[in-house]
Amino acid sequence: MNLNIGVIKGDGIGPEIVTEAMKVLDQVGKTYGHTCDYTQLLMGGASIDVHGVPLTDETVAAAKSCDAVLMGSIGGDAKTSPWYQLEPSKRPEAGLLRIRKELNLFANLRPAVLYDELKGACPLKEEITKGGFDMMIMRELTGGLYFGERRTVEENGVMTAYDSLTYNEEEIRRIAKRGFDIAMKRRKKVTSVDKANVLDSSRLWRKVVEEVAKEYPKVTLEHMLVDNCAMQLVKDPKQFDVILTENMFGDILSDEASMVTGSIGMLASASLNETKFGLYEPSGGSAPDIAGKGIANPIATILSAAMMLRFSFDLDKEADAIEQAVSRVLKEGYRTIDIMSEGKQQVDTEKMGNLIAGYIK
Ligand code: NAD
Repeated sequence: MNLNIGVIKGDGIGPEIVTEAMKVLDQVGKTYGHTCDYTQLLMGGASIDVHGVPLTDETVAAAKSCDAVLMGSIGGDAKTSPWYQLEPSKRPEAGLLRIRKELNLFANLRPAVLYDELKGACPLKEEITKGGFDMMIMRELTGGLYFGERRTVEENGVMTAYDSLTYNEEEIRRIAKRGFDIAMKRRKKVTSVDKANVLDSSRLWRKVVEEVAKEYPKVTLEHMLVDNCAMQLVKDPKQFDVILTENMFGDILSDEASMVTGSIGMLASASLNETKFGLYEPSGGSAPDIAGKGIANPIATILSAAMMLRFSFDLDKEADAIEQAVSRVLKEGYRTIDIMSEGKQQVDTEKMGNLIAGYIK
């Protein structure tokens, strides 16, 4: 298979960690008989330096012509970088917001995986985390409270602010389908999270999710109120497979879930649209404090590349091979500095990439 991949190396540690992910993808290609065609795209600070803007129309068009985009992180140090002297619409992050909108990326996926080998980094008690956990948070990204009408007015001499939370059934249906599709590739359980005891938008959410569930008889659906879910994530994280939820609940719960896994350098993410297209990137930022030192953890980006193979190209075996190689490297005790602990062997970014690529089978 020929994989037509757009690559946004980005700023800071972006180029270092994306280079390692491409190395692993190339090895997967060699082992399984695929070719990776990369189109280099500029975004963020790197694009400002060349074009004066964080994202050009040409780059958007080039990204749209790819099957998927793998991205490092964009942005610099807000205090020292000249990019932040520009008006907000010309700064690096504006490129990210625009590309998400242009590509209609409405579904955000964030896996929260606790590897048994890294359980020391998890703030939960060992009896809760024994054996690790592996969940996927699917968050609706383009609707709900963050995109509803808002205003602040004075009413009878009292300042009053309004934010509206709106979802229509089509928006709910398309994210729910995505959630069930992903559950079919995993342990076939969906926990739909809402606040249906209070909110109309949640009652519609629940009704539409139940309709969609009928198309997926192999998937077990449960409903959970968001406040209970926040508790269950720290009480018994192993119970979750796919958590399906709306924008604001997902924003909060995905951060909570990622914190219980430990290191930011391990957290992959993906944003998908209605087709197989997706933008795959680590959850962390461009880490200007360690950029250029060759010490960044490339694993989140490598795991994002695995997600790309699984969700944009349906190459599940190949994605499994990457995930197993990551597990093996951790099991053998190799660590970048951010996940280093006593008795383990510290390696740099490049060595970590080489080890993972070398373990692709
Ligand atoms: P950050 O995630 O870049 O860094 C936070 C801390 O985590 C730092 O100490 C950093 O060294 C560490 N870290 C992050 N990724 C790491 C990795 N792979 N390996 C080892 N350590 C890692 O967050 P920040 O400092 O708040 O933001 C820095 C810049 O990144 C800002 O310009 C911000 O706007 C941008 N940012 C971009 C994205 C994105 O591109 N999607 C996301 C978040 C932040």
